[in-house]
Amino acid sequence: MADYDPFRVAQIQLDRAAELLDVEPAMHEFLRWPMRELSMRLPMRMDDGSVQVFQGFRVQFNDARGPTKGGIRFHPAETLDTVRALAMWMTWKCAVMNLPLGGAKGGVICDPKAMSERELEALCRAYIREVASVIGPDRDVAAPDVYTTPQMMAWMMDEYATISGQNHFGVITGKPLSVGGSQGRADATARGGWYAVREAAQELGIDLNGATMAVQGYGNAGSYAAILGQQLFGCKVIALSDTGGAIINEDGLEPQAVLSHKRETGSVADFPEADAIASDKLLELDVDVLWPAALENAISKDGAERIRARIVAEAANGPTSPEADEVLYRNGVHVIPDVLCNAGGVTVSYFEMVQNACWEQWSVDYVHERLDAKMTEAYHDVLQLAKQENVDIRTAAHMVAIQRVAQAVTARGWI
Ligand code: GLU
Repeated sequence: MADYDPFRVAQIQLDRAAELLDVEPAMHEFLRWPMRELSMRLPMRMDDGSVQVFQGFRVQFNDARGPTKGGIRFHPAETLDTVRALAMWMTWKCAVMNLPLGGAKGGVICDPKAMSERELEALCRAYIREVASVIGPDRDVAAPDVYTTPQMMAWMMDEYATISGQNHFGVITGKPLSVGGSQGRADATARGGWYAVREAAQELGIDLNGATMAVQGYGNAGSYAAILGQQLFGCKVIALSDTGGAIINEDGLEPQAVLSHKRETGSVADFPEADAIASDKLLELDVDVLWPAALENAISKDGAERIRARIVAEAANGPTSPEADEVLYRNGVHVIPDVLCNAGGVTVSYFEMVQNACWEQWSVDYVHERLDAKMTEAYHDVLQLAKQENVDIRTAAHMVAIQRVAQAVTARGWI
């Protein structure tokens, strides 16, 4: 949508929560803007011998609670305002989870699907050379996000280690296990989301065994949401989509088989044991759990009126507009907002930082146990406030987060 501005959306959400909390004006204004932002040009030699100049960003939104933390996206439609919004959401996400971290985000405008492995490695290294002086294990820690992978994180960590002359594993999370990655990081976003959905389902009286679900987006978060839904709870996955199209089978899809099909063909579309449906129709299906797991702005005001899911689990960042939020709240849809629902990723990233700092490796069972405890606690903190204040869950999550960040800003004597 041409007039959609994610940063404006993030500010509106902040304003709503700040007003309810009666945050003092200077603090409110301070929290509306990033503390630091960097925009860079990255000239790079392509495989055909030509030179292309890419634009990249790193926004450090707020570091009152600790080093800033957040992923790097490689996407053709990236903008500074998108990165600012995502950096603000990272700040709230880390605070909702009560992690000793601030929020940041990075991005490069590029089309990774059209680039070779060598070109991607060169771009990762060029990006790190530009941000090296402002990141670090105690300063700003990056991670994967849309279209960036553990392999890319390994190249980035290696470039930083080369520049600094030290094996600083903790500068990047979401790395492969062989270079300081954590067990359980790969599926952490979806797994954390499921722990929150489990709590919600219990409260709403939904039996997840046999419950129906649909997923929009079949990247890391989306594919694991489908796989874990089936594996952990016995859910029936009836519809899936990605940028290539959407598929449906009311008798249930096999998420792992769909993933293999996507790896072979590039998309979930044309999966043999399914029918095609229009991508926007997937969001309107009568399912127990709907997972928007693609990009921002998936659910607008009009779309929200047609949503029939009982639980909306936001694996994506920023999928629901503020107007849509009002509609969903009025219609009694239980929205588990992005800053809570997809916080499993950054939570296990934090576990990775802790392991890197101590040169330790935790077992996968220990990671799952700690993630479950963190998600369950955060979910109930937020739900309790939502009920007490009679507000939607997103506003309550933002209220919890803003209170915690403001407290740290005050304690430091900034405001
Ligand atoms: N990119 C993920 C997010 O949006 C994870 C960030 C991280 O692990 O630092 O939460």
